[in-house]
Amino acid sequence: MVNPEHTPHYKAIACRLDRWRQVPTEVLRDVVMRRGLCLWGLWPEEEPDWDDCESSDRRLAAHLCARCPVIDQCLELELRTAGAGTTGVWGATCEDDRRALHRVWRRRRHRQHKATDQEGGPTS
Ligand code: SF4
Repeated sequence: MVNPEHTPHYKAIACRLDRWRQVPTEVLRDVVMRRGLCLWGLWPEEEPDWDDCESSDRRLAAHLCARCPVIDQCLELELRTAGAGTTGVWGATCEDDRRALHRVWRRRRHRQHKATDQEGGPTS
């Protein structure tokens, strides 16, 4: 279980998202639209226990998305489509964390694309 008060390990998250790397954006969008809890109005109604203002955005994001079955697909989709300008809550992350993650994720994908080009095919 991830403690939402701790600073996320962006590199570990970017690695985790590798499994969605070769999934087309349209497929990710379709999955998130079909199964994302917020898109069906199913975000939790109860509020988290607000006792730490500094980490409230992170805690709120983790709270809102906690039971969603497509968190990583949502996060991958948002990183691809909104990039560094991402706002709001997506994929159980707040926008500050997602912007920081986007830098790490983008560098990782860039390296992967270069490796794929040099080897003449996709990397595993
Ligand atoms: S991860 Fe969060 S923002 Fe994304 S679809 Fe699920 S509930 Fe909505």
